[in-house]
Amino acid sequence: MKPMGGNGWAVGVDLGGTQVRAALVDASGQVLARAAARTDAVGGPGAVLQQIQQLVAETTQGIAPSVLGGVGVSAPGPLDGEAGVILGIPTLSGWVNVPIVAWLQEALALPVRLENDGVAAAIGEWRFGAGRGLSDFVYVTVSTGIGGGVIADGRVLRGRGRLAGHIGHMTIDPQAEVCSCGNPGCWEALASGTALGQYARQQAALAPTSHLAAFGAALDAKQVVASARAGDALALELLEREARLLGIGIVNLLHLYSPELVVVGGGVSQGFDLLHPGIAQHVARRALPPFRGTPVVAAQLGQNSGLVGAASLILLPG
Ligand SMILES: [Zn+2]
Repeated sequence: MKPMGGNGWAVGVDLGGTQVRAALVDASGQVLARAAARTDAVGGPGAVLQQIQQLVAETTQGIAPSVLGGVGVSAPGPLDGEAGVILGIPTLSGWVNVPIVAWLQEALALPVRLENDGVAAAIGEWRFGAGRGLSDFVYVTVSTGIGGGVIADGRVLRGRGRLAGHIGHMTIDPQAEVCSCGNPGCWEALASGTALGQYARQQAALAPTSHLAAFGAALDAKQVVASARAGDALALELLEREARLLGIGIVNLLHLYSPELVVVGGGVSQGFDLLHPGIAQHVARRALPPFRGTPVVAAQLGQNSGLVGAASLILLPG
């Protein structure tokens, strides 16, 4: 195995259910090159590992091997980061007990590290983004689901089995819709991008004069944000509800972890400027007095939080 490269560059890989992305990242967190491919879900782990190898080769083309410190991989859980094994990816078949770190280290002849995607993105924002220099902050990603990571007392909060930070499964309303985990009313089931799209389709069907009705079954969170920007009344109402649901979950996080800052990333954060006033209002209304002033901001690295975070597993280990 190669030692850490002199300049300490690293490749961050983000293994997702629809896309595998890779980025070459320098020691200051800058993305120097990137590549992506549609996840070969049918081919199973063997095919995807080959895709990762290919993407690493593409992003490091022309780079002296001595410069490269290794590859950090961010993947959906559950996984065992210490053992380097993906235990199961619900959205990809065949991904059960895959020793991804051992396989990639063998194939790439480089050090490889593995981290849960929510935690990797939190680490990216902590090392190089909105949470830089802070010792207490919470990162929330709102996209297909809701995930995140907690930095507490200057370190990543791990918990038993390194499972801490499953913030999407906080119960927000036990009377509400059932989550993919089987429990009713999880934060993810109510406020993820998927949930926003689903609720929008229901409401649009009842409001034929709204712009949203024209999208029919294709209506998703992205179009809700775009229509709200165009002033559509139903879309604005839907975002007001979304902001309330996000605000309720964020207040829980403030009370639990007392962060200096809450950072919101993921697809839904594209509409963060529209959501922020509502979130701030619910934080001011619901949080205990000492927590009310805590800022809630958008992820600084945007869609790169996870990639940069994965690379920083190599760049700034520990
Ligand atoms: Zn759940």
